[in-house]
Amino acid sequence: MKPIPFNKPFIIGRELSLIADAVALGHLSGDGAYTKKCNRWFEEKLGCGKALLTHSCTAALEMAAILCDLQPGDEVILPSYTFVSTANAFVLRGAVPVFVDIRPDTLNIDENLIEAAITPKTRAIVPVHYAGVPCEMDRIMSIAKKHNLLVVEDAAQAMLSTYNGKFLGTIGHFGCLSFHETKNIISGEGGALLINDARFVERAEIIREKGTNRSQFFRGAVDKYTWVDIGSSYLPSELVSAFLYAQLERADEIIGHRRAICSAYAKRLVALEQAGHMRLPHFDEHSNGHMYYLLLDSLDTRTAMIAHLKTQGVNPVFHYVPLHSAPAGKKYGRVCGSMEQTDTLSERLVRLPLYYEMNQADIARVCAAIESFYAR
Ligand SMILES: *Cc1c(COP(=O)(O)O)cnc(C)c1O
Repeated sequence: MKPIPFNKPFIIGRELSLIADAVALGHLSGDGAYTKKCNRWFEEKLGCGKALLTHSCTAALEMAAILCDLQPGDEVILPSYTFVSTANAFVLRGAVPVFVDIRPDTLNIDENLIEAAITPKTRAIVPVHYAGVPCEMDRIMSIAKKHNLLVVEDAAQAMLSTYNGKFLGTIGHFGCLSFHETKNIISGEGGALLINDARFVERAEIIREKGTNRSQFFRGAVDKYTWVDIGSSYLPSELVSAFLYAQLERADEIIGHRRAICSAYAKRLVALEQAGHMRLPHFDEHSNGHMYYLLLDSLDTRTAMIAHLKTQGVNPVFHYVPLHSAPAGKKYGRVCGSMEQTDTLSERLVRLPLYYEMNQADIARVCAAIESFYAR
């Protein structure tokens, strides 16, 4: 039988014809017609003040870190259970990531532990919406306001998830999205910076254009195009933007389909949860169906489960090695408080295959393989 991969990049409709159109339009570098269409799509659909497409979520996080104007030794509070880019973007500015433990139910940063991590050097909080499930943003925003901190949402996994009626990525000062091929909406590599505080828009455009005032020049706002600030090249090519736009046109359908896969998993696996073998993920109609994971009883069970599923042609994967225990995490960051939840949950989590083209038979095969592990 054909193996079931963990992830499979997909084309949903007009991706290739829009790339051909971008070529025909004769503008292949950044900020042509398709990049502008994508930016507008985000601004209208998500209701963010300003959206700027980037070549990755890593790039969007780096831009946000520059916009936070961090000085060497400044501190940034974030979970340890996240992707390296969440921390690296700030370390590149000379800042110190301060890791806080996660909640056992959502695996998101525990908002009740944030205030204890604040020092006179703290400048920002970086909530990561793991699996597209929202962090407690009301609480986080009120802590930030009280202590005059900026909030950068790492919404890489959270495109089109909502929290109290607002899209994730539009609540903090900045939101960072990813369109990497493992995310819900894809363009191979790709990302966007959402800027929800108008004070930062002008500088964001400059940083994204290698530190030049090119955008202002093209708008006729200045008469010279010159180097005015630090910056880098954070633009995607029009070929990437055209591909992405074809997916954005059908974003709701893609998200709906992923949610249905998560529901199908939940429906069938709930019996194993009730039997006490595992915990299924926190999941509701406000999240985007980004990920379906199981929390098993131990690292040994996880290792055995992954090996068993592979013999059945099913390819699950585990996820992050917590950053506080990684070599660079120890060198550049520090922890605040116990990391108990992060340490135990990260060892017991296994992610099941989930991709757009997955059908009911595939889901049934994955579930049957899990059931057969417990029936041995
Ligand atoms: C995928 C991911 C990123 C990085 O996204 P890229 O677009 O690959 O740079 C950052 N943070 C989290 C939480 C992610 O899942």
